[in-house]
Amino acid sequence: MKYRNLGKSGLKVSELSFGSWVTFNKQVDTKLAEKMFGTCLDAGINFFDNAEGYERGQSEVVMGKALKALDKPRDSYCVSSKVFFGTKEKPLPTQIGLSRKHVSEACDQALKRLQVDYLDLYFCHRADPDTPIGETVWAMHNLISQGKVLYWGTSEWTAEEITEAYEFAEKHHLTPPTMEQPQYNLLDRKRFEIEYKPIFKKFGMGTTIWSPLASGALTGKYLDGVPKGSRASLEGYEWLKKYMIDSDRGQARMKKVAELMNIAEELGESLSKIAIAWCLLNENVSTIILGASKIEQLEENLKAPEALPLLTEEVQKRLGSI
Ligand code: NDP
Repeated sequence: MKYRNLGKSGLKVSELSFGSWVTFNKQVDTKLAEKMFGTCLDAGINFFDNAEGYERGQSEVVMGKALKALDKPRDSYCVSSKVFFGTKEKPLPTQIGLSRKHVSEACDQALKRLQVDYLDLYFCHRADPDTPIGETVWAMHNLISQGKVLYWGTSEWTAEEITEAYEFAEKHHLTPPTMEQPQYNLLDRKRFEIEYKPIFKKFGMGTTIWSPLASGALTGKYLDGVPKGSRASLEGYEWLKKYMIDSDRGQARMKKVAELMNIAEELGESLSKIAIAWCLLNENVSTIILGASKIEQLEENLKAPEALPLLTEEVQKRLGSI
């Protein structure tokens, strides 16, 4: 495993990390989570990603139990949470968003569910148009001062919103955001590569990128329909199936996946490994958060760096043109 600095911070994160969206508490129980963490730690992964909104907090409960059972020194790994969506099916106005009240209470609740004393990384899961950015910056700064959070960041904020947060923090001598958590993969490149380009340079933002396989689309598994038990077949994720496959957008993306699959076959390597290795080529990526519902998937994805030598300039050009 190789390690990269989280942007201009001194924190070294493994270039591959592991997350729990959809999977933990739905497809992965505590026992399997424990096994997966064992595989991750053996491979050198040191960052585990979570959020209050995943399975309404239950994903953090599963992660907390699994981490506790493994009993590894707390200084040997990093764990994150995110605030914004809340944990309730019908949240009250104070139970969501980025107000000082919710940011502060959500952090305490995440610490309990994850059974840790502090979060290494804490993200604002989306921007909150109803809360002044300065209030959120202050709330995050306070959590850092209290020792409950080490680094704070954003997820899917616009470059403009990140700039506003950063400049507010600098002006008031508060802790600015260290990292962003954006989607980035062979099919979703624009925001990461174009919109964020100036802020990588200006602020040295780190990134913990999500859905490197576009929720599994970039494995090629959906080319002949929706396999049983796959993410797009899950109850409650019909919206994702529509977005991924059953829409004009989805169909156009599936055509691209078929073309990418041809290149992978030509190279004699799985598209999953090629797609993950391709993300590693971008120096603005600090860590790629892997997702897996089965241990075999995790094992395959962990081997993605093996595909790097196949990604010659010519192959990169062909992948890029698709
Ligand atoms: P991926 O795009 O890699 O999708 C992972 C899913 O694809 C797996 O759960 C599995 O689903 C399938 N899969 C993975 N590897 C293989 C394989 N080798 N062969 C076949 N199928 C495979 O990542 P995620 O979308 O899970 O995102 C990763 C993490 O990023 C999340 O856990 C979360 O921590 C974070 N995230 C953050 C977001 C944000 O807004 N900040 C949004 C989304 C994710 P299945 O078996 O069910 O088909």
